[in-house]
Amino acid sequence: LVLTVELWVMWEEIGEVDEDYAPIHTYQVCRVMEQNQNNWLHTNWILTEGAQRVYIELKFTLRDCNSLPGGVGTCKETFNMYYYETDEDRAMKESRYIKVDTIAADESFTELDLGDRVMKLNTEVRDLGPLSRKGFYLAFQDLGACIALVSVRVFYKRCPFLVKSLAEFPDTIPGSEASQLVEVVGHCINNSMPLYEPPRMHCSADGEWLVPIGKCVCAGGFGTVCRCQVLLKGEVCIPINVARQTGATSCSCEDEYHKIDSDPPNMACTRPPSAPRNAISNVNETSVFLEWSIPMETGGRKDVRYNILCSRVLPDGRGLEECGPNVRFLPRRVGLSNTSVMVADLQSHTNYSFLLEAVNGVSEMAKDYTKQYVTLNVTTNQAAPSPVSVVRKGYTGKSSIGLSWAEPDRPNGIILEYEIKYFEKEQDSSYTIIKSKETEMVVEGLKASSVYIFQVRARTSAGYGAFSRRFEFQTSPYCEYTGTIQSTMAARCGFVCLRPKWCHVCSAAVKFPGVRTYIDPLTYEDPNQAVHEFAQEIDVSFISIERIIGAGEFGEVCCGPLRLPGKREIQVAIKTLKAGYTEQQRRDFLWEASIMGQFNHPNIIRLEGVVTKSKPVMIITEYMENGSLDTFLKKNDGQFTVIQLVGMLRGIASGMRYLSDMGYVHRDLAARNILVNSNLVCKVSDFGLSRVLEDDAEAAYTTRGGKIPIRWTAPEAIAYRKFTSASDVWSYGIVMWEVMSYGERPYWEMSNQDVIKAVEENYRLPGPMDCPEALYHLMMDCWQRERTNRPKFDEIVCLLDKLIRNPSSLKKLVNSSHRVSNLLVEHASAEGDCSARTKSVGEWLDSIKMGRYTELFVEGGYSSLEMVTQMTSEDLRRVGVNLAGHQKKIITSIQEMRVHMNNTNSPINI
Ligand code: AMP
Repeated sequence: LVLTVELWVMWEEIGEVDEDYAPIHTYQVCRVMEQNQNNWLHTNWILTEGAQRVYIELKFTLRDCNSLPGGVGTCKETFNMYYYETDEDRAMKESRYIKVDTIAADESFTELDLGDRVMKLNTEVRDLGPLSRKGFYLAFQDLGACIALVSVRVFYKRCPFLVKSLAEFPDTIPGSEASQLVEVVGHCINNSMPLYEPPRMHCSADGEWLVPIGKCVCAGGFGTVCRCQVLLKGEVCIPINVARQTGATSCSCEDEYHKIDSDPPNMACTRPPSAPRNAISNVNETSVFLEWSIPMETGGRKDVRYNILCSRVLPDGRGLEECGPNVRFLPRRVGLSNTSVMVADLQSHTNYSFLLEAVNGVSEMAKDYTKQYVTLNVTTNQAAPSPVSVVRKGYTGKSSIGLSWAEPDRPNGIILEYEIKYFEKEQDSSYTIIKSKETEMVVEGLKASSVYIFQVRARTSAGYGAFSRRFEFQTSPYCEYTGTIQSTMAARCGFVCLRPKWCHVCSAAVKFPGVRTYIDPLTYEDPNQAVHEFAQEIDVSFISIERIIGAGEFGEVCCGPLRLPGKREIQVAIKTLKAGYTEQQRRDFLWEASIMGQFNHPNIIRLEGVVTKSKPVMIITEYMENGSLDTFLKKNDGQFTVIQLVGMLRGIASGMRYLSDMGYVHRDLAARNILVNSNLVCKVSDFGLSRVLEDDAEAAYTTRGGKIPIRWTAPEAIAYRKFTSASDVWSYGIVMWEVMSYGERPYWEMSNQDVIKAVEENYRLPGPMDCPEALYHLMMDCWQRERTNRPKFDEIVCLLDKLIRNPSSLKKLVNSSHRVSNLLVEHASAEGDCSARTKSVGEWLDSIKMGRYTELFVEGGYSSLEMVTQMTSEDLRRVGVNLAGHQKKIITSIQEMRVHMNNTNSPINI
């Protein structure tokens, strides 16, 4: 229980920010330069509520004396904690206080951290006792250190109310000594009485009940029945005749639920597991390797084990005969904790039936035994499927190839899945294997312009067939942009959206071979089905929570290791759903997992799975050591090279390209929604259902009622909720600006209304300090009013790749006149300004923001506007204008010039 503490001030009260830039109040003192310091900070009178030992947790920062210029002589790196016990609220002289301890820091902070106004927090816990008065004061004494005290938490421990062995034990406060056990005599519950002696338990200093002695039993004519079916808190005694009538002659949980004697008293009633899933066998001559997945339902217990029953199928339908003792099971036949077993020394050319059973501690009590096993029929030396004969190439991108193939001619059984093995040609020392249940798949994460070798094989319960012959396919070259997917998605839109308000894009009701598309979880009648379709259920016992790393909309975000059986331990982030949620909140929380689980890309946060079978409900994702990008950039202001920053932007663009290819519109792309790992890899995150509507602190209500993060959102999305990949591109431009200005707030402190107005009047953010011109041009392109003129993510990735490969292109920085802080710059629109002055090719290109092509035009022989008006799209490509949006913009302007010439027959004015 936490006691209330108020600090009253002898030190200075200061507003600060913590490591996450959240505002906090601290009490500080820093008189390191002056001699003879003796500064006290007192708390209010804290009531003990009867506790004899209390714990004090301090959070504070201490400045490293070595980091202080010349102050080392008198500077201290510790402070003292005191207490004073009293029965009434009466402040006392400091000399009456008793010292608890001298407190030192584990981490001190340096000048640099101070400059950043970011503090490193130390946490120290001390205990006080035995206490005998009603209350006490705490005090902190500074003798010349530089300290900021951030929090003081005072608490004590209790053994909670407990019902055990038909006796009730009251809520009990432990004794004052660490080794002391407080003996508590329990009261037998109604209709029960002590057996031999009254039951006793012992309350430890840590608030745990230990050493039970004695018990109560039901009085004559009464029998025990569990009191609670879901979380068993105890038992009650009811008359035996009543118990018989209800069928509960002994302690019985609700139908199908059970408990065993060794279960802890407050453990839930549990039930047997469901059957093992996905069981397959792999025959190798006279051995069979059986493999399966853990049951869907573990019954609320962690002690799930597997037993194998092996039977030989007798010829001519004469039934089954149990396998003899000569058959070997590795590691053993019963009580397997792993989900596989090798059965060796079977007879050849013989049919076997394996019964694979999942059991747990309460299985023996189950009435419906058939629910818990599956059978597998296996013939030793059985033929595996024949090889897949043809593999075809489908949609091909720069980093992906769609593949499809036909079932093998002779499957020899039901095909459970296919394995696709691939590697880059002439690099066959390492290869990748992926699996598919369908006869098609998109292989992603490939290199552009590279030849890959693919082979496919099928698997049945008899094992794998041979691999197909090798098929060679090549990925598309860099920067060859085909709008296929975009237009495919666009063509599909508009007829399968169930609830347009939430629809990011239409569902994949229509299937396009070789192109994976995002499926709106709303297309599932039961949202739980969507979750389990796209997210793996993880048993909570594989997860350890180590610390809290953030606060999400639905509860805390923690991190810790995930140890999946047979897999390497990895660090994961764990989003929890706080207790007391409604069914709707649970659905909304899990919505994010249904979306995230559909993505598989190095720049999209990876979903490891969900925990829905136990509480709290959790979403498990990969852990990103450096947290969200905006905070990370602010913390590391000016610390990265331009190439590093462009690398981060490239990653984000690549993730967004993948999302737009999948037909998913993010709607809240912003640096705060990008996570960064220890290798500076940026990943797009935040796919929550309500994020734009509720969660994002940046979101504001628009006149049309929706909640939108104004500063990041394209004008058409603000005005009439036209959210598309093109509006995501606008937001991407803002993210570029955030990155290049190390986390500066877009449009600074301007109000949302002013931002909308300025953007409407064609003003745009100026180039950040030291920003390469090429990047600023790209940002400006992302902020084209006409959304079709904005580059596609595909083109953005290409352009950034080009810049990375040619770093000298990043040397030219934004002209300082473009970056007058706090002033927005006017965006030259494609329409241009129509001043009546004849311009050069360079000026014309500048006026439509295409100045970067001036050199290419001149080199290509187009040195006058007259010549330019003769140009075709083909000519444009030839001089080197490759981006579709730019071609369109230049051609539009050329057409305008032609119209003008025909109308006026005068020199070209633009
Ligand atoms: P969210 O609810 O997704 O906005 O998460 C809240 C905060 O938790 C974020 O701002 C991050 O600081 C942190 N967080 C969320 N997911 C992760 C992760 N995968 N790795 C590291 N930190 C995370």
